Amino acid sequence: MTGFVPRYHPDEILEANVAALVQKVRTGTWTATQVAERYLQRVRETEPFIGAYLLVDDQLVLEQAATIDQKRQRGEPLGLLAGVPVSIKDNLLTKGFTTTAGSRLLQRYQPPEDATCVKRLRSEDAIILGKTAMDEFGMGSSSENCAYGVVRNPLDLSLVPGGSSGGNTGGSIRQPAAFCGVVGLKPSYGRVSRYGLVAYASSLDTVGPMARSVSDLTHCLTVIAGPDPRDLTSLSEPTNIHDFLRETEEALSAVAKPLRQVRLGIWKEALEMPQLASHGRQALEEALRTLTSLGASIIPISMPRLRAACAAYYVLASSEASANLARYDGVRYWQMTRRTRTLGLGAEVKRRIMLGTFALSSGYVDAYYRRAMQVRQLVKRDFELAFQQCDYLIGPVSPAGAFALGTKAGVDLYAEDVLTVPASLAGLPALALPCNPKATLPTGMQIMGRYGDDVGVLRLGIVYERVTRPLITSDEQ
Ligand code: GLN
Repeated sequence: MTGFVPRYHPDEILEANVAALVQKVRTGTWTATQVAERYLQRVRETEPFIGAYLLVDDQLVLEQAATIDQKRQRGEPLGLLAGVPVSIKDNLLTKGFTTTAGSRLLQRYQPPEDATCVKRLRSEDAIILGKTAMDEFGMGSSSENCAYGVVRNPLDLSLVPGGSSGGNTGGSIRQPAAFCGVVGLKPSYGRVSRYGLVAYASSLDTVGPMARSVSDLTHCLTVIAGPDPRDLTSLSEPTNIHDFLRETEEALSAVAKPLRQVRLGIWKEALEMPQLASHGRQALEEALRTLTSLGASIIPISMPRLRAACAAYYVLASSEASANLARYDGVRYWQMTRRTRTLGLGAEVKRRIMLGTFALSSGYVDAYYRRAMQVRQLVKRDFELAFQQCDYLIGPVSPAGAFALGTKAGVDLYAEDVLTVPASLAGLPALALPCNPKATLPTGMQIMGRYGDDVGVLRLGIVYERVTRPLITSDEQ
């Protein structure tokens, strides 16, 4: 299938940003039901072309909307995301919606409760639209490894949308965001609770949002971030990202050169890599000119361990996956069959389990797993040195952007992740945002920050977005 998804008529509801939508639902200009109906209609129009959802249940969606509308009628205050439609990647547990993680093994799994982040979204009155497709257990970079079919890029149906989509282990938020011209944040490891996330590689798995703009994404992060007693790796500091950003944004908009004090490191090896598409390089250079005009200073930074980081990532992620996936043993999760693993798991997942088991087996553990752990330490050290010289590191998200469906597999596909896995290995916050949003296929720019500095990364993204896409962030929608 080639071509484009059906265009929609300009429509206030679909175009509203989060701030505007929440305001309209709170004041009763739109009911949550109207919003839900409009989004469901759009999903019905586009799904036959894209295949992004594994589950959309109109009735469940309308029930949630009705609950929000009743709450308003009773005069109760509505939450921070009142009426905002949200789709959940299918590796996050959602009560009432089957959760498969893109695997046949879990095709009938009904979670007993919501993941912490889903619970938080619901308690702030977001509407869960449905569950989105993903590479099985998060393993893949193109969404072609899902047991339930292939997903297409909404900007061009002959291309992949990126993968594995919403939860980020090695790039699954940033890379699909860059391929589809939206914004995605991998927060610092631990910023968002992993409770209720189907585990892939626990020391790397990070839950984060994708949205149309950095400011929309920030509204979502505000709600899902924060400590959780049920995930001991969650960061203990409380987060009030939204208020903090609002204050800094107000301060920033008052000055002509808001980035005057900011030192931006340019990731030299990434910009010089031969595979980087020339339009991507040009778009990034243009973005750097914009950032400089806002006052930032630019410092070239060398982070040479690209290939080693990617190899180490695949050894570590597969090792952790082989341990995590041992729980699908044919006894739990409703699958009482001896043939569970043979029939229930796709080829890529089996390959990773074998790779991981091998890397952890005695006799090989030093050569593979331990060595990969050493590379991880070196990558962390590279970032520490880089952040002594600069405040943020800028680079591309992927070598050449969205590629054609069916053209990459195995190691070629793994190599697609070279630019996203370093920040994953180091647990750092990293934002992907389009740097030439008007192009037919936008290029992604990646902003990486120090561990814990999610707000700083977002602030830089917002400043850039305000200049390059003023309409999308406007409060007067
Ligand atoms: N493509 C990488 C992998 O297959 C990363 C995917 C992810 O972040 N879940 O492991």
